[in-house]
Amino acid sequence: LTTRLTGVFDRLKRRGALSESDVAEAMREIRIALLEADVALPVVKDFVAKVRERAVGQEVIKSITPGQMVVKIVHDELVAILGSESSELRLGSPPAVVLMAGLQGSGKTTTSAKLARRLRSRERRKVLLASLDTQRPAAQTQLEVLARQSEVASLPIIPGQGALDITRRALDTARREGYDVLILDTAGRLSIDDALMEELAAVRDLARPSETLLVADALTGQDAVNTARIFHERIGITGIVLTRMDGDARGGAALSMRHVTGQPIKLVGTGEKLDALEPFHPERIASRILDMGDVVSLVEKAAEVVDRDEAEKLAKKLAKGSFDLSDLRTQLQQMRKMGGMKGILGKLPGIQKVQKQLEEANIDEKLLVRQCAIIDSMTPAERRNADLINASRKRRIAAGSGTTVQDVNRLLKQHRQMQDMMKRMKKMGGLQNLFGRGL
Ligand code: GDP
Ligand code: MG
Repeated sequence: LTTRLTGVFDRLKRRGALSESDVAEAMREIRIALLEADVALPVVKDFVAKVRERAVGQEVIKSITPGQMVVKIVHDELVAILGSESSELRLGSPPAVVLMAGLQGSGKTTTSAKLARRLRSRERRKVLLASLDTQRPAAQTQLEVLARQSEVASLPIIPGQGALDITRRALDTARREGYDVLILDTAGRLSIDDALMEELAAVRDLARPSETLLVADALTGQDAVNTARIFHERIGITGIVLTRMDGDARGGAALSMRHVTGQPIKLVGTGEKLDALEPFHPERIASRILDMGDVVSLVEKAAEVVDRDEAEKLAKKLAKGSFDLSDLRTQLQQMRKMGGMKGILGKLPGIQKVQKQLEEANIDEKLLVRQCAIIDSMTPAERRNADLINASRKRRIAAGSGTTVQDVNRLLKQHRQMQDMMKRMKKMGGLQNLFGRGL
């Protein structure tokens, strides 16, 4: 997905304007890319249609490139489908029941314990865990062990009891002992079968859960869609937990399941450890599906603060390779406005290497201010040609700016590094393309 989409956008970035055929071409590629990312076909069709509609209907903002515009539209649409905000659990009056459902191995038992731990430690809720898994030997013991690790109570195991009997006992215990939340971990099968669904439906009718969470492995791709649809049809889920997002799943399953069930993704599992459970952030998953770093927010921020005339001049100079100290000063000021070098670079995809170099060079806010002062103390000729700056000039500049000769040397070194970096960025289609005609 990444390479493909990046390829599409790279091509768009180089165009002057976003024509209808540009959009159509991009959409064809995006369609394939989403399918490759395991988003289900009907979802892809819907998504592409919506994005095309919005892309064609919307003016391309003059100050950014057409490619950036498409990134933003695609991103916004992804976020809209995934849910416009992170979704909280809705827990009813105590004891609120949370029913965990899903296929075997999807992470139900682990997620039950993680959730219990989270509710205990973050919300100070009194939580009871109970395993209804009578299918797999030792499943109940597994939950008991995890409960202990989470410092949460678990229902004592009585061998030979069926799922419904355990449910009754768990409800009784929760009421009698004043638990806020009862989490019911259930049995899973390798694939969906009627017996499992009937048992789940019976448990649901008995326990009347305030949340029925479908636990699904983010790596299962197309299957996740069928699973989600059938579980939703048979037992009516109220939310989805996407596990194994610590793996290299692109998040395509999130888009599909959300679309197919209409239910929000509420939590995301990010590891085997019991604290590896996070609230769902649509923005993050959307970025992950697109894998465009934070281009979107960068575009928004850049549109706010970048002085366009200055930027255009700078772009011409960059193109010519004549990046002098005055240009550096302009650049430094714009960077200060945008939250510093790190702030910008952190938002660009694939730029870690350059960022690391800059960190080594120790660019920070205070340094930016001082560097501007040093450049202010130079003569126009010096700013144009750094080679003029010999030892005595350095002493004069240092005195004039209240810095030391070492500071001046560091700045000059910085300037050389910046020139190098600009060249590299140009090769990568980096800053210049990102800011488009703006920079
Ligand atoms: P269940 O059959 O649905 O109850 O699944 P389990 O809770 O027993 O989990 C199956 C395996 O997946 C275990 O080894 C878990 O440690 C692992 N697992 C669960 N959630 C995650 C997750 O978010 N990330 C990773 N890496 N592993 C997970
Ligand atoms: Mg289990």
